[in-house]
Amino acid sequence: MRKEFDLFFRFIFLILFVLLFSPSLAGNRLPETIIRVGILENVYSANLSAAGGFEVIDLGTGRHAKLKKSSIYLVLAASEGIRIGDEIFGPALRFKSLSDNEMLRVNGRRYRDGIKISLNNKGNLNVINELGIEGYLYGVMTREVSPEWPIEALKAQAVVSRTYVMKNLGKYDKEGFDLSATITSQVYGGGEAEDPRTSKAVDLTRGQVITYEGELIKSFFHSNCGGRTEDVTNAWEGEQPFPYLKGVVCYFCKKTHQYYWEKTIKKKMLTEKLNENGYSVEEIKKIKILGRSSSGRVTYLKIYHGGGRLKIRGNAFRMLMGPNIIKSTLFAMEHMGNRIKFYGRGWGHGVGMCQWGAKGMAERGANYRQILRYYYPKTKIEKWED
Ligand SMILES: [Zn+2]
Repeated sequence: MRKEFDLFFRFIFLILFVLLFSPSLAGNRLPETIIRVGILENVYSANLSAAGGFEVIDLGTGRHAKLKKSSIYLVLAASEGIRIGDEIFGPALRFKSLSDNEMLRVNGRRYRDGIKISLNNKGNLNVINELGIEGYLYGVMTREVSPEWPIEALKAQAVVSRTYVMKNLGKYDKEGFDLSATITSQVYGGGEAEDPRTSKAVDLTRGQVITYEGELIKSFFHSNCGGRTEDVTNAWEGEQPFPYLKGVVCYFCKKTHQYYWEKTIKKKMLTEKLNENGYSVEEIKKIKILGRSSSGRVTYLKIYHGGGRLKIRGNAFRMLMGPNIIKSTLFAMEHMGNRIKFYGRGWGHGVGMCQWGAKGMAERGANYRQILRYYYPKTKIEKWED
């Protein structure tokens, strides 16, 4: 009973403390959407540390425990709950750094704000970074663009990435998080991936997103369009047509090393790749382009092989050969004996903003609003309120 009273008074004191001091402590930090990013999924253990020490909160019992500075704690999945050192906690824990200037580290990598670790239904750990959306964007930007790029191109990317995140919140709700740190969402590198220039672009566009008729847009983007961006309905089956994703001519990405590409592949290799991916084909004889979209990209291919013919979507063919080998579906072919030479333009699916084009526009003096209006026509940039 005494212990409970003690806890109660500590709680009251904490509330008073927060009420009295939070305006000054919080500085000018404004409220923002908190997102949950899965950084480790289904692992047996994780190492946690923070240079200024950290605390753990058991989300089941409310118990708080402080963990020492500069010690690395091994957090383990156990049958009775989650084990930290000699102690067993419940199945869901939240960790916070005790110092504003020091981020928590998970397996040596720094992450902003909080970490939640919980047991999943397989008895392993899911490690989730819970953080404000702007801090999340700091950790995404350098994976998408170079910090050396003109600031207006970086700002355009910040708004595109923010829109993408907001639109995809809750995508992995079943697993207990909003986004995955890997390529399936946007590649998130945590504190290690931050750069002052890209973070500045995030700050300068704080809260801004792209909308169409009051809704967040599907802010697709890609590296280099090769001269024309693609209508979303040509890129993937089942996509809704949107006036802002019809594709535009792009003059701005041409002077980049990524604009032209070529790759020569043995027919034998093509046959193997198709079979590995579930298409039953015999020795490939020739490949014919069946059709092209309005942007010039290959819509369908016909593959003539020893056992017959196979019709395949251009995009599906690219993905199974490897998106960094066949860099785009804007290609032509040349048959050369037992090999086929593919040569094309651009890198990526071609839908939405062309990143190298955005850079080119910024170098010609365009601001980020002009860049975004160019690649997503008929849209607006708005400050998004929850
Ligand atoms: Zn382009």
